[in-house]
Amino acid sequence: MKLMCNKKNGRSRKRQLDVTCPYCGRRAVLRPAEYVYGSHTIVPGSRLYVCSNYPDRCDAYVSVHEGSNTPKGTLADGNLRNKRIQAHRAFDRLWKSRLMTRSEAYDWLAFKLEIEPEEAHIGNFSDYYCEQTIAECEKFWNGCCKMTAA
Ligand SMILES: [Zn+2]
Repeated sequence: MKLMCNKKNGRSRKRQLDVTCPYCGRRAVLRPAEYVYGSHTIVPGSRLYVCSNYPDRCDAYVSVHEGSNTPKGTLADGNLRNKRIQAHRAFDRLWKSRLMTRSEAYDWLAFKLEIEPEEAHIGNFSDYYCEQTIAECEKFWNGCCKMTAA
């Protein structure tokens, strides 16, 4: 096993970041979205960090913020990707329906999950935190605010 310690100074614009797969420990490679989605690519030209064991021995990848090489979170396998999508949906509903502002919603979520507000990024959440997010959002939604929703 080799550790990655070849840090180069003077990083050039298009260099990818050192991103490691949390499942198998392999390095993730910045690739066009087509590499994973093929003809189902929604945003042509978008890119993903894909585990170098993909697709044979590992199913993990994560998309990058548009126009950057910054991953949107940690690499996720299929299961976790679905959980994060569900958690985002449950969470976005709260601020998109104007029950609170987006930043209030993140503060609220951090408080509920007992984490620091800086850590409240669903893209980085584990299974556990995704489930907690969904549960807390549903509770909030069902508790007081059903009538506000269209
Ligand atoms: Zn992997």
